[in-house]
Amino acid sequence: MAYRCDLCGKGSQASRLQTHKPGVAGGQWKKRAPEKNRRSLPNLHIYRGYLLGDVGKWTLCTKCQRLVRNAAKEALEPKKEPEVKAA
Ligand SMILES: [Zn+2]
Repeated sequence: MAYRCDLCGKGSQASRLQTHKPGVAGGQWKKRAPEKNRRSLPNLHIYRGYLLGDVGKWTLCTKCQRLVRNAAKEALEPKKEPEVKAA
């Protein structure tokens, strides 16, 4: 299974771990500031419910999960009409 969001397709991203250039401070940090390739993963969670016209189990990133949850909340709540103040 790919570690990927089912809705937006967000997946792992490659980035570089480098706090500073290894040539500073007289070269004493040369071996202590290694450059590394690192892989950052999205914050994925399992969501069970109605999505894309189907009820099922989905893997969503937290951003998409918030959107889906808010949309479901709005659909369930009855819309309040604005109160008209009597003069
Ligand atoms: Zn997403």
